[in-house]
Amino acid sequence: MWNEPSAGIAVAAADAANATGGAPRLPQPAVVATVEPGSIGEELGFQPGDKLLSINGQRPRDLIDLQFLVGEEELVLEVEDPDGTLHTVELEKDLDEGLGLGFTEALFDGLKQCNNACPFCFIDQQPPGKRRSLYLKDDDYRLSFLYGSYLTLTNLSEADWRRIETQRLSPLYVSVHATEPELRSRLLVNPRAGLLLEQLQWFQQRDLQIHAQVVVCPGLNDGPALERTLRDLAGFAGGDWPAVLSAAVVPVGLTRFRPPGDGLVPVDRACARRVIAQVEPLQARFQAELGSRFAWLSDEWYLMAGYPLPPRDNYEDLPQEGNGVGSIRAFLEAMDAATTRLPAALDQPRRVSWVVGLLVAEALRPAVERLNAVAGLEVLLHGLPSPYWGQDQVVTGLLTGSDLLQGLAGRDLGAELLLPAVMLRQGEPVFLDDQRLEDLTSQLPVPIRLVQGADDIVAACLGFLDEAA
Ligand code: SF4
Repeated sequence: MWNEPSAGIAVAAADAANATGGAPRLPQPAVVATVEPGSIGEELGFQPGDKLLSINGQRPRDLIDLQFLVGEEELVLEVEDPDGTLHTVELEKDLDEGLGLGFTEALFDGLKQCNNACPFCFIDQQPPGKRRSLYLKDDDYRLSFLYGSYLTLTNLSEADWRRIETQRLSPLYVSVHATEPELRSRLLVNPRAGLLLEQLQWFQQRDLQIHAQVVVCPGLNDGPALERTLRDLAGFAGGDWPAVLSAAVVPVGLTRFRPPGDGLVPVDRACARRVIAQVEPLQARFQAELGSRFAWLSDEWYLMAGYPLPPRDNYEDLPQEGNGVGSIRAFLEAMDAATTRLPAALDQPRRVSWVVGLLVAEALRPAVERLNAVAGLEVLLHGLPSPYWGQDQVVTGLLTGSDLLQGLAGRDLGAELLLPAVMLRQGEPVFLDDQRLEDLTSQLPVPIRLVQGADDIVAACLGFLDEAA
């Protein structure tokens, strides 16, 4: 699956040996990015740019190590100033007290990349020549633990397995795709992929947990294979401490950049309806057996099928919201809440536009109609396809700068364009096609306002953010 490491958790790719489970790279120093006001770090005089070399004589490999090493009452820190001066700092603190430092990277010894060759890999379906982080095949169990990115478990060394056990790195998020060994090996093009069921037993025996995902490729792992996969996973979901906490079922994303003749078939309306008709009865069965629906269909299935999204209650505690399961339903609910008590009229007439992916536009219309019932307010909703990826039915987060320029050309944008920040790389004003936000700003005839979340969108529509400014 695709997890572009965000700016701020930017990581250097490990060397080839590390990516295949060999000897890891020597950890680099942890570079301080932020110092929390009032923290021990501030008291000690830490500044952004300082390098933390070791804690009690040990070099942390990543933020997880760092957290473990800092959990002592007495610390000896080895620190290097930006000018190269070395310091040794000794301190005493409460056991659970942190240093209040943020770091430029999450991994100090490099990213473990995947050793698979899935034909449906989204990373391989991009055009060449974009920013390097777009091509990093993150398959790193530490990022899975820290940020919920998915991994396949095919590149773990003995030392990695030991570390998962001793540091209790749980839950992890595992791309399963299929449980039948031969089929999973074929999908990931890796014989090690066939070990998944043994690996799940390993988690179960140690009271460690995972969330699973299945990317459905029509004709490859749908139908009976999908049924078997979900039943096998549910076999690890019983008891007080289930090894598999949930399974998300998501449609494969195919772009126009994939090689010809790859045999992959895009999900269409008929396929979406078939998968829903297959998984919903399984959900009912799991509910009866496990007390949870357990297997979750991402919102895209319902939007592609042309069905209404299930009610919010169906999603229980949204165990796979980050994977698009219930996220649009939760957003619609937040929009409902944010638009229940709107003013009857605005003091000043206002016309703004709001751009979203074509796939979600229809579901947002009722909320937009409620906003447009406010006298003096007109919100123009623009649902756009993605010529860049070659996808008509696209979610908002995949729209690129060129999609926006092409799709919005000649459209009525009102006085301002509301642009969901989810289209940009976290922490950086850049789109998935490397187009920068400032380029878009200079080419569109109206100012752009970044918006995030329902309350922010409604406040921006009403012009309340201007009043507050
Ligand atoms: S090749 Fe497979 S496992 Fe590796 S990043 Fe791509 S989809 Fe994920």
